[in-house]
Amino acid sequence: MWYISTRGTAPRVDFEGALCSGYAPDGGLYMPEELPQLDRETLRHWSSLSYPSLVKELCSLFIRPELIPREDLNDLIDRAFSRFRSGDVVHLRKLKNELNVLELWYGVTYAFKDLSLSCAAQFLQYFLEKKGKHVTIVVGTSGDTGSAAIESVQGAKNVDIIVLLPKGHCTKIQELQMTTVLKENVHVFGVEGNSDELDEPIKAMFTDVAFVKKHNLMSLNSINWCRVLVQIAHHFFAYFQCSPSLDMHPLPFVEMVVPTGAGGNLAAGCLAQKMGLPVRLVAAVNHNDIIHRAIQRGDFSLSAAVRPSLASAMDIQVPYNMERIFWLFSGSNSQVTRALMEQFERTQSLHLPKDLHSKLSEAMTSVSVSDEAITQAMGRCWEENQYLLCPHSAVAVSYHYQQMDGRQPSAPQCCLASASAVKFPEVVLAAGLTPKIPEEILALERKETRCTLMKRGDDWTRMLRATIEDLSRKRKRGPRRGPRKQHGKAPPAI
Ligand SMILES: *Cc1c(COP(=O)(O)O)cnc(C)c1O
Repeated sequence: MWYISTRGTAPRVDFEGALCSGYAPDGGLYMPEELPQLDRETLRHWSSLSYPSLVKELCSLFIRPELIPREDLNDLIDRAFSRFRSGDVVHLRKLKNELNVLELWYGVTYAFKDLSLSCAAQFLQYFLEKKGKHVTIVVGTSGDTGSAAIESVQGAKNVDIIVLLPKGHCTKIQELQMTTVLKENVHVFGVEGNSDELDEPIKAMFTDVAFVKKHNLMSLNSINWCRVLVQIAHHFFAYFQCSPSLDMHPLPFVEMVVPTGAGGNLAAGCLAQKMGLPVRLVAAVNHNDIIHRAIQRGDFSLSAAVRPSLASAMDIQVPYNMERIFWLFSGSNSQVTRALMEQFERTQSLHLPKDLHSKLSEAMTSVSVSDEAITQAMGRCWEENQYLLCPHSAVAVSYHYQQMDGRQPSAPQCCLASASAVKFPEVVLAAGLTPKIPEEILALERKETRCTLMKRGDDWTRMLRATIEDLSRKRKRGPRRGPRKQHGKAPPAI
């Protein structure tokens, strides 16, 4: 299996190449050269599998055994999920009013990013160990990516991770999940700025190709192919759990309601669909609605600014993974995709060609959900089931309730729950409900924290480069010591 760029002019790479690079050199995103088509027999077999076994089957279709032999692949995936809070890893919850909620948040940081990042981290360490190499991962985060990335590589021999978080712009719990990991290979910076501002020093660094090469730098952000790959599995798992039968001809449809921001989870759903899974997709977004406008009217143009919402992990201005979706629905046409994306980058506005828009709107529909509707869905779900939703999952559930209150939905629906409510007590309170916070999360408040400030007025790019150079120097000298850090107790109250 080879991977090619959506823009068509970069050389093809194998899975390792796709995992270790973010963008392809031509600015595109990596996609598999061909997509395996699953017949009914395979689907029937997959329907009997546990979620971890499903991930193994899926990954074995996209990673050649010469690269990772099947036995090793199985071990790595078992290891990836070994610290999850449930042996099942992913759980379907059936609630009143035909509400199906697929809980994707049993990972250590209580959000679905743990699923893909824990696998990506295991695959990465496998390749590094084989070659005796080391990488430094640099990520900017608005909250959930940073904590999941740190969790997945903390303590790893061949990896250092540097995370920039927007001081004061992510939730207290998200911040503590990052700053309380005191492993030597974890380096957290609190930036006095928002998530767009902290992207700037990272971007500036990654454009210095010589520097990136010299220090073996990589990112693990949401455009990484491996993250999309692993997320395909839960669409299959959800289908098997919610489909009334696998004996019908043709197979019955299930509607997958996907809370999305950067389009990663949505791209995974499109890939599952293209592999033969009979799912209809619903892109459920908050009031940052560029994906919704693209699906409804072909209008893929940037809004003036990100508007903060209660579903903050989906407050995204540029949904990078839509490039993969445009490529898929233009018949893997890289010329068309490149022309579209280059126009978008130039003018920040794009009207989708008619045939692309009609393919897109055949495959999926969409909804944009207000903050008020988010808290309403959280309230109703609690009233009917005594079940707390996180605000992102509530975006999906709001769509389900809208459908139930209008006509009966034509197919069973499954709402993907991308995080646990325990991670967002502020929003639970805002919805007039009572947060339930597990001891494990309360304990974060009492732990020692470590975080270096990047103050306004400091040269952030210089600080970042100095940290990386320092790490490289120390590695050369032998036993490692992290850069100097500010120590302190976590401030009280959530
Ligand atoms: C990252 C995130 C999302 C959005 O995921 P995409 O696939 O990038 O759209 C949704 N919900 C939560 C809780 C997240 O952390």
